[in-house]
Amino acid sequence: MDDCIFCKIVKGEIPSQFLLENDSLVVFRDIQPQAPVHILIVPKKHIRSINDLTDQDDAIISEMIKTARDMAKKEGIAESGYKLVFNVEKGGGQVIFHLHLHLLGEK
Ligand code: AMP
Ligand code: ZN
Repeated sequence: MDDCIFCKIVKGEIPSQFLLENDSLVVFRDIQPQAPVHILIVPKKHIRSINDLTDQDDAIISEMIKTARDMAKKEGIAESGYKLVFNVEKGGGQVIFHLHLHLLGEK
């Protein structure tokens, strides 16, 4: 997707500091944090939203959630607790139409 900001971040066309990168996803801090810890978990594959998931995406969804769990531990918010949020389409508050999981919390 040529004009997708998260595809550009994944490809390194928009500079971003990754907290984690592997074959299937990248993790970076939200540019406008809504909580002291606000991290985005983003699959490298362009998927528009939760509405567009197929059976082929089971592995990446599972990996995103487990990555969020691991990042929460790394950031020191596993014990205090955190939110995992998928905003879905405009009515759900989604503004970037490339699937991403928000990890939000504070110590
Ligand atoms: P959503 O409303 O679920 O689509 O969330 C998109 C999120 O991406 C928002 O919280 C934005 O602050 C965040 N965001 C937009 N551009 C960037 C960027 N270049 N780097 C990091 N986060 C971004
Ligand atoms: Zn994209």
